[in-house]
Amino acid sequence: MSIIIQAKHINKSYNDLQVLKNVDLTINTAEVVSIVGPSGAGKTTLLQILGTLDKADKHPHTELLIRGENVAVLNDKALAKFRNNHIGFIFQFHQLFPEFSAIENVCIPAFIKNTSKVNAEKEAKKLLDYLGLKNRYHHKPSELSGGEQQRVAVARALINNPALIFADEPSGNLDSESAESLHHLFFKLRDEFKQTFVIVTHNKELANMADRKLTMVDGKIQN
Ligand code: ADP
Repeated sequence: MSIIIQAKHINKSYNDLQVLKNVDLTINTAEVVSIVGPSGAGKTTLLQILGTLDKADKHPHTELLIRGENVAVLNDKALAKFRNNHIGFIFQFHQLFPEFSAIENVCIPAFIKNTSKVNAEKEAKKLLDYLGLKNRYHHKPSELSGGEQQRVAVARALINNPALIFADEPSGNLDSESAESLHHLFFKLRDEFKQTFVIVTHNKELANMADRKLTMVDGKIQN
């Protein structure tokens, strides 16, 4: 089994509040890992650091390897490129651009990667079809249901075929039926494309479906 994330001695403080306390974590390729725990435990902070959206505090023993690459030493530009190529994000609130259609929203990360319009749209259509949104290409987010908006956000997260997907309360804003179908989708993607998922969630069903459930309490992983 190959390792996709190797994190060691991850610390994070805001002023005198230590939010993460020497977190060590290894995640394997094609693993679905859930992170649960009380509000304020540091889950989102950890996810943001593992996803390279935020940086751990500097410490001589701190290490963050993603696909074998030491992301801690990359400058902002290289990091943005690395993120766009290898990592997808799904948030509680879909964060789609309201003035763009579903297909335009999905294409954005591909355009950032300099994929041609023809190829980006081809891939976006493939993903939207796969996610049951074949007849929604040209709808704006406001013309879609919550579950559909979240599936567009999933398609956007997937368009560059990332090895790693981070999700922060992905179903927190969905009715139970849409939530359940989104959860099954994560496992289907993992099974079909060997993608790795790290998911912060309060949803017990999703947390328990994961291959591994990590519990964070007071800045530390308990198990
Ligand atoms: P969780 O996701 O487990 O609810 P978070 O990682 O969001 O926890 O937050 C952990 C703690 O860090 C909380 O006490 C929160 O208020 C604090 N915190 C998070 N981000 C910041 C920030 N940018 N500035 C100051 N404090 C922060």
